[in-house]
Amino acid sequence: MNCRMLSIFELHSDCYLHKWRVTFALVKNSDSIDTFIERAIQLLGDGRVLVGGDISEDYSHDESLGLERIAPHCLIYIHSAKECADIVAIANELSVSVTARGSGSGLSGGAIATADGVLLSFEKMDRILEIDTLNHTATLEAGVTLSKLSQALAEVGFVYPVYPGELSASIGGNIATNAGGMRAVKYGVTRHNVLGLEFVTASGNVIESGGKFVKSSSGYDLCQLIMGSEGTLALVTKVTVAITPVADSTVTLLVPFASVGAISSAIPEVLRSNFTPSILEYVEGSGLMVMASREGLNLGIPKSVADGARAYLICMLEESDQETLERQQLRISDQLIESGALDVFALSASQALHLLAARESAFWVAKDLGATEMIDIVVPRSEVPTFMEKVGAVGERYETLITAVGHAGDGNIHLSVFESDPKLKDHIMSDLYKVGVELGGEISAEHGIGTAKKKYFIEHSDPAKIALMREIKRAFDPNGILNPGKVF
Ligand SMILES: Cc1cc2nc3c(=O)[nH]c(=O)nc-3n(C[C@H](O)[C@H](O)[C@H](O)COP(=O)(O)OP(=O)(O)OC[C@H]3O[C@@H](n4cnc5c(N)ncnc54)[C@H](O)[C@@H]3O)c2cc1C
Repeated sequence: MNCRMLSIFELHSDCYLHKWRVTFALVKNSDSIDTFIERAIQLLGDGRVLVGGDISEDYSHDESLGLERIAPHCLIYIHSAKECADIVAIANELSVSVTARGSGSGLSGGAIATADGVLLSFEKMDRILEIDTLNHTATLEAGVTLSKLSQALAEVGFVYPVYPGELSASIGGNIATNAGGMRAVKYGVTRHNVLGLEFVTASGNVIESGGKFVKSSSGYDLCQLIMGSEGTLALVTKVTVAITPVADSTVTLLVPFASVGAISSAIPEVLRSNFTPSILEYVEGSGLMVMASREGLNLGIPKSVADGARAYLICMLEESDQETLERQQLRISDQLIESGALDVFALSASQALHLLAARESAFWVAKDLGATEMIDIVVPRSEVPTFMEKVGAVGERYETLITAVGHAGDGNIHLSVFESDPKLKDHIMSDLYKVGVELGGEISAEHGIGTAKKKYFIEHSDPAKIALMREIKRAFDPNGILNPGKVF
C-alpha cells in the first residue's frame, strides 16, 4: 500500500463498510437498576423512562470509529435541572451509573453509557433563555444545538464565535468535550467563550458558577474544571456564553503551496507577523481538487498553478469595515508570498461557503473510505512541520495509510488511520501519540478522550497527573456514578 501522507479525498471507494454489533451486555447490577427504574417512574410518571426495545439504536453509539455499540439499560429525556438533580440523586443512592448525552456527535465514545446504566439525554432541554446584546451574552439550556443558537443570534446580528464543525452538536456536549473547531486560531475554544454554568453534582446538588461577566477571582474556577470533563464530574444544565457582533467584512483566501512542508513552515511566520485570521486550515492539493469536484465548485485556480500545488491553505479574514479588511488582505497576501506561497486567490462569498462546507465533510469522507481511527493530536504550531514528517515516517514504518487535514493555525492535525488489523492499529496509534507528546503536544485537541483514547492518554501521561485527576473525580463523584470508564 502507498504509505505517503495522502488526503482522504485521494482515496477511491474500494472501501469496506463496518458492520456494527449492538451489544446488550448482561446487566450486572439488576436489583439496583430495577429499583432505580421504579423510583424514576414514580418521580417522572409513566412513559418518561424508556427501557429495552423502546430505546432507539441511535442511543447505543456516538460518531466515533471502531467502538463497540452498547445500548443503555434505561434512557430518560431530562426536562429541567430539578429533574436532573432528582434523578442523579436516586442513581447515586443506588450506585447506578449515569451518562449524559447531548446530540451524540462526539468522536471518542464519551456518550456511550454502560449496559447496566442510565443514559440522560439533554435533547429536550433546548430553550434559548436569553440573548443579551448589551452584555454580549447568551444563556441557554444544555441541549441547545449550535445550529439553533447560530440562527437565533443571526437574527440580532450576533454570532457565537466558536465553530466546532458539527452544527447538530449541543452546547452541553461542546462544554463537556471543550470543543474547538476552525475558528480557534482567533477566538479560542469553548473554554474561552463560556462565562457561566449551572450544573448538577453526583449528590444531586444544583450549583451555579460564573455568570454574565468576564472577570472573576472568586475561589476555584469550577466552570473551567467542568469544561472538558466529559460528563465525569457533573452534568451541565445551563450555560452562559460570550457572543460577538457579526463581522461586517470578510474575505477568504485560497493559497497554494508547493509542498505540505512549505505550508507548515509558513503558518508560524504568518502568525508571527501579528495577523490573526479567523480560519487557517490546510488541505492537501489533490484533496482540494476532489473536494471541489464533489461540490461542483470552480475555485478559479489556473491549471499551471494547480499542477504545482501539493497543499493549500484556506485563510479567512474578518474585520469590522471594508477598508481595514482590504489593508489586512494586502499585507497578509504579501506575507504569504514571502513565506513561499505560489499565489493568493480571493474567493467569492459563495465559493468560500462551499469550500468550508466541503472541508467540514472530511470526517464523513474518511469514514466512507474505511478509516478505522480518527486522531486529533495537538502540537505547538511551530512543531507542525516536524510532526507531519514524523507521521509520514510512522506510515512508512508500518506500510500503512495515514491521511491528514488540519486546523493548521492552532497546531491541531486530524489524522485518519486506515489500518484494520487491531494489533497493528494499536501500535500505529501508540506511535503517533508518542510523536505528538514528544513534540510538546497532547493526545486530544478537541474531541476528548472518552474510551477511544483512554489507553493512550494513560500510557503517555505523567502518572502523578492522572492520580491528581482521579482525586478530583473522587471529590466530585465519590461513588463513581458519573460516566464511569471514560477519560481514565
Ligand atoms: C462531522 C463532524 C465534525 C466535527 N467537527 C468537530 C470540530 O471541528 N471540532 C470539535 O471540537 N468537535 C468536532 N466534532 C465532534 C463533536 O461534534 C463534538 O465533540 C461535540 O462537542 C459533541 O457534542 P454532542 O452534543 O454531540 O455531545 P455527545 O456526543 O452527546 O457527548 C459528548 C460528551 O459530552 C458529555 N455530555 C453531553 N452533554 C452533557 C451535559 N449536558 N453535561 C455533561 N456532559 C455532557 C457526554 O457524556 C460525552 O462525554 C465533529 C463531529 C462530527 C461528527
